Amino acid sequence: MKYILQVFSGPWNRANWQAEEIIRTIRETASRIPVDKVIIGWYTDPSVYRETGEFLHASGIQMLLWLPVFAEIGEIAGQDEAVDLFGREVPAPAGDEGARFRFGCFSSRRNVQSVKDVFEKYFSGCGFDGVFLDRVRSQSFTSGISGVLSCGCERCRKAFTERGVDLDAVRKLYEEKGDAFFDTASFPMNGEFRLKETPARRFFEAKDEIIADAANEIIRYFKDKGMIVGLDLFAPAISRFVGQNYALLTKNADFIKPMLYRRTDAPAGIGYEYSLMKKCLPDAKGWDPLPADRELLETQLEALRNVPCGRYPGIEINYDEQLVQTDEGYIAESIAAIRGFGYEGAALCWDVMRAPRRFLRAIKDI
Ligand SMILES: [Zn+2]
Repeated sequence: MKYILQVFSGPWNRANWQAEEIIRTIRETASRIPVDKVIIGWYTDPSVYRETGEFLHASGIQMLLWLPVFAEIGEIAGQDEAVDLFGREVPAPAGDEGARFRFGCFSSRRNVQSVKDVFEKYFSGCGFDGVFLDRVRSQSFTSGISGVLSCGCERCRKAFTERGVDLDAVRKLYEEKGDAFFDTASFPMNGEFRLKETPARRFFEAKDEIIADAANEIIRYFKDKGMIVGLDLFAPAISRFVGQNYALLTKNADFIKPMLYRRTDAPAGIGYEYSLMKKCLPDAKGWDPLPADRELLETQLEALRNVPCGRYPGIEINYDEQLVQTDEGYIAESIAAIRGFGYEGAALCWDVMRAPRRFLRAIKDI
């Protein structure tokens, strides 16, 4: 089994680390476990990547740019913001980091173009072997019901209509039904939930399609350059809330990293996102509890069986008292489960630079 390391080099305009610190950490990690690829981004100074890339290539490791698609990118390029079905801007989550989590419209040509422009302007001469696309989705319940019931702008209205979905009818149904709009006939762990109300179900299906169309255009753009493309995806069980349909998104990608985060108390954490849904929709029926135990991990791994591209399930290896209370036992349990499925590898997330050294030793010992 091979490993992908994820390195957060810093936000667009600020370096978190010097190249030599990054190289030292990767070298130390790669001496313990077989490292296949390093995902690194998205600080915009090319010298970090040129230096790091030289080391990685000499070591037979691929370097992929960590590139956010529908959030964050508005800070350095044009972005059309997403609005909800009620015509309100989808609010940014509270807190200092919240503003960065404001999502753009997923049917905007301008937003797709911005991803290409940012790559060309800042990263094209840095020696990247590929890109790793993050935030290829709508906002989640992190921004309440608005996040999930988006985007409802004029462009999206047209895109939904082309798929036979009338957003006014969807909005009216939600206003009439409230939480019952989200009643589900079944909640299988692979994300293929079936909402009871047909317009509600069709809304989510069409959202999947629109997001997949944008994703596939961006994937093709990079593949035409001969680059590898990976995708960051919500865990299967919760992926459909944010418009991530595994079948549609994995056709053209080289690999995916499903975020099987059972300890993350922040966006993309399985329990975190699921409990926000329950809080937003206390009266929606058919949503069973989702304990973050080993069985949940097994069902999420099982859901990846038919994925036609590389599978590198992601687990957290950094530690934070507030956000992610990991420990050696959790990491060992997760890696052992992933290994049991025989997929291509595992991704150590979301920042190896902040991983306690003892965690890396624990992985080697498995
Ligand atoms: Zn839109």
